[in-house]
This record gives sequence, C-alpha cells and structure tokens, in this order.
Amino acid sequence: MARYVENAQEEVLAAAKELLEKGLVEGTAGNISARQQDGNIVITPSSLDYREMTLEDLVVISPAGEVVSGHRPPSSEKLLHLSCMGAYEDIACVIHSHAIYASMFAVAQQPVPACIDEFSVYIGGDVRCTEYAMSGTDELGEQAVKALEGRGAALIANHGMVAVAPTTGKAMHITALVERSAKIIWGARQLGEIHHLPEKVDESFASVYEYLRTQA
Ligand code: 13P
Ligand code: ZN
Repeated sequence: MARYVENAQEEVLAAAKELLEKGLVEGTAGNISARQQDGNIVITPSSLDYREMTLEDLVVISPAGEVVSGHRPPSSEKLLHLSCMGAYEDIACVIHSHAIYASMFAVAQQPVPACIDEFSVYIGGDVRCTEYAMSGTDELGEQAVKALEGRGAALIANHGMVAVAPTTGKAMHITALVERSAKIIWGARQLGEIHHLPEKVDESFASVYEYLRTQA
C-alpha cells in the first residue's frame, strides 16, 4: 500500500505556512501535497496567499487528478505532484518551492553537487536538474520523476525545486537543506575550487538515505 500522511490536511496547511515563513517561496508561489489514507491527495489551491489559507481552502484530488472536494481550483502544478506520488509509492508528501539559491542552480541548469555529508545523508546524492519543461505540464512531472530517481529532491529547470519524502516534516527539511547547500556551494565557488565527497563516502551515505526514506 502506498504511504500516507496522518492528518494530511492539517499537515499540508501547516507546511504551506512554514514554507512562506522560511522564505522558501514568495507571495503565492510554490505548492504542497500529501497523500491521504484513502489514496486521494490533498493539495494547496492555486494562487492563494498562504497567510490567509485555511483548511477549507485545500483541495482533495484523486490520483487521476479529478477534484474530490474543495471549492477552489487545485494548484496549477497538480500534474507534478500526481506524477511524483504515482511514481514513488514510498513517499507521501511533495513540496514544490522557488527558493532563491536552488533557483539559481536551476537557471544555470546545474546540479547542486554532493559536497556536504549531511546533504548526502538526507537527500541521497547530488540534486539533479531536469530538462526544461513548461510550468503546469505533464512533461514537467515526467522530467521531475526522472531527476528524482534515488533522491529526495530535484531542481526544475528555469523554475525552482521539488522535494519528496514520507512525511511533510522530512520534505520541508529536504527543501531547506537543498537551499542551504546551494547557498554554501555558491559561496564556496567564490573562494575557489570546490571538492565533492569521495565516491565511496557518497555511496555509503546514499545507502543511509535509502534506509532513512523507509522510516516515516
Ligand atoms: P499555484 O499557485 O497554482 O500552486 O502555482 C504556483 C507555482 O509555483 C507554479 O509553478
Ligand atoms: Zn513553481
């Protein structure tokens, strides 16, 4: 059975407000979803201020994308969320954000390299960047699924980031950690050459990541 989040609606609302508070999105950008026990997915509505958002504003959609409940239109990135949830049954939360440093790498279409121990343990290795696909399209979802193979996050070319995890807390942690690491790498490059983790260390941390992903 696919993994789900207990109290998915409360969790999504709290995470949406936290995303704004942490400065990982601006205005109404970004979106969050979580899988419910019944298999449906609760997702933030499109273009609504996070500060005003209440539980009544959230939208529940089926895995096929039909609206099950809610009076607002679901996020315009619902296909991204549905693609991730459909491809990875071991995750139950998807967070799409427009964090600044991660977006810099996404604009440069460069991966965020695995240079920090903590990063590899919680994310699984370098954060790949997708091929360009337009916002809101099925193709963007397909590209994200590809770039997420064995990872907790991917950069979306010329756009932002997507993080996936078994819980909303972990998806938020990954989002913040990718942003923090992108900032560190960007700064380290100003100092000179950067150094990747040794391949063996990277491999062993990737196994730790795989294990942690099974633990909700
Ligand atoms: P929504 O407001 O429709 O969720 O879209 C925001 C966004 O990040 C588009 O990529
Ligand atoms: Zn976006």
